[in-house]
Amino acid sequence: MSRVRGLLNQTTTVINSIKGSAPMTQGQYSCEFFPIRANEGHQRARESRLALTELNPEFYSVTSGAGGSTREGTLQAIEEIAEEGVTPAVPHLTGVGETRDSVSALLEHYRSIGVQRLVVLRGDRPSGMIEHGDFRYAIELIEFIREISGSAFHIDVAAYPEAHPETPSFREDIGFFRDKVKAGADSAITQYFYNVDAYLRFRDDIADLGITIPVVPGIMPITNYKQLARFSDTCGTEIPRWIRRRLEDYQDDLDSLRAFGADVVALLCNQLIEGDAPGLHFYTLNRSGPVLRVVKAMGSLA
Ligand code: FAD
Repeated sequence: MSRVRGLLNQTTTVINSIKGSAPMTQGQYSCEFFPIRANEGHQRARESRLALTELNPEFYSVTSGAGGSTREGTLQAIEEIAEEGVTPAVPHLTGVGETRDSVSALLEHYRSIGVQRLVVLRGDRPSGMIEHGDFRYAIELIEFIREISGSAFHIDVAAYPEAHPETPSFREDIGFFRDKVKAGADSAITQYFYNVDAYLRFRDDIADLGITIPVVPGIMPITNYKQLARFSDTCGTEIPRWIRRRLEDYQDDLDSLRAFGADVVALLCNQLIEGDAPGLHFYTLNRSGPVLRVVKAMGSLA
């Protein structure tokens, strides 16, 4: 059976699982959450995690505010996921503002609660923060983790198919990515994008450099145009004109916007799977509905 056919079959299995039959094989999907310490947002994140177990995800990751700004919340969410014992918990670890001591302590704690995988990032300096701490770039944090923890953790890093917004050139950005892999990254998750060619080209470029680690596309469901446009401006993701114009047209007609968004993102996911992407990482924004809607739409489009 070809790899594409295998992945498409697995997609079908997910759809079946949503309809109530057997769950899919683990390993194809992962989901990202952001930390919330209390109140109804916290409850919503919990319910979303529960609902998304339908996808049998490989892991649930939890973001971390650079400079330790969400340390407590990230820890709490990771501990909860670990206690639930259904889906492996994967904390994001940012270097900005951290010291070797603070990272050592955090790693020790994560090991003690059974964490085996990390998403390792530089992070963005919060406005007003001048000191970058002991880690200027993600690579330095990866090197440090390998130095003190050996291969205890599987390390994911960030990749940018449309280039990181601060990078002086695409070529250099890809060079820095190669360096992170050489320093010990096991796999990567991309910034979200809506141009499938950007991902395929990025993967070809890194393959030319001999990089063979899995690079999993990050997928952002479309549910709100203004918020998406703001995020995308900040992180350097292009919303193609034809998508942007249609989203603008829907204005306050959220039902139509979300139906269109689910179709567009499902088509992207199917193209990625057909292009042999090793999995899909969903930016859930703590909501299960938009992710499940995309996965269902993938079935009808495949
Ligand atoms: P790096 O790989 O260090 O790259 C940062 C920039 O520096 C790039 O422009 C790169 O080209 C350049 N660069 C790298 N090495 C060098 C060098 N040696 N010399 C000169 N320039 C260099 N942010 C958070 O705060 N918390 C999160 O939890 C979080 N999760 C994320 C998850 C994913 C999957 C992704 C894609 C991003 C996430 N981010 C998160 C955002 C991320 O922190 C920002 O994009 C940040 O600006 C860069 O982080 P990085 O790890 O890619 O940095």
